[in-house]
Amino acid sequence: MEETIKFKRCSKCKTLKEVSRFYKNRVFKDGYHNQCILCQMSNFARQRVECECGKYVLQFYMKDHLNTRLHFKTLNQLENGRNRNSVK
Ligand SMILES: [Zn+2]
Ligand SMILES: [Zn+2]
Repeated sequence: MEETIKFKRCSKCKTLKEVSRFYKNRVFKDGYHNQCILCQMSNFARQRVECECGKYVLQFYMKDHLNTRLHFKTLNQLENGRNRNSVK
């Protein structure tokens, strides 16, 4: 049996890559996603998520953000605000 490596061009980075560099996805005609795994991962990393402190942080930065002063400060303010509100 002949093994042929199929290539596909990523619609985002325009690079020709082996199909193993793409996620399988039945939605697409050839069975693979039109963006390579790397591009999909960077899309994901660029998404902003809401932290428990209420700030919107880039997905890839979230881990670092959790150790920042800003996070603790905002979280404290939030807690204080909550306590104040709950006192009747
Ligand atoms: Zn790509
Ligand atoms: Zn935070």
